[in-house]
Amino acid sequence: MYKKAGPGVIGYMGSKRFSRNVEDFRCEACKAKVKGTGYTDHCPNCLWSKHVDINPGDRKSDCKGLMKPIKAEHNRKGFVIIYICERCRARKKVNANADDNRELLFALLNALAA
Ligand SMILES: [Zn+2]
Ligand SMILES: [Zn+2]
Repeated sequence: MYKKAGPGVIGYMGSKRFSRNVEDFRCEACKAKVKGTGYTDHCPNCLWSKHVDINPGDRKSDCKGLMKPIKAEHNRKGFVIIYICERCRARKKVNANADDNRELLFALLNALAA
């Protein structure tokens, strides 16, 4: 989980300005540091995601559960990863990115959907 900044840190925030909503984050599943692109919603290393969206990209879900990749499909556009939320069992599908872990994607192609 992310640590909230303590009271002593608040005054510091005004000096840091972010022009884009690009967040680097640490993957909670495998602890890899993931470079944010503004589009990344899952870890390219282990492919786990986080339940932060109700609709893709809106960041409106309060669940914040970890989302487990359970299956991958391949279509003409590339890989699609299917997730299930470990906390609320919601499912989602996202397009895989070019730098996603190919070995895992191939393994998920052959996985049986839960
Ligand atoms: Zn990861
Ligand atoms: Zn959830």
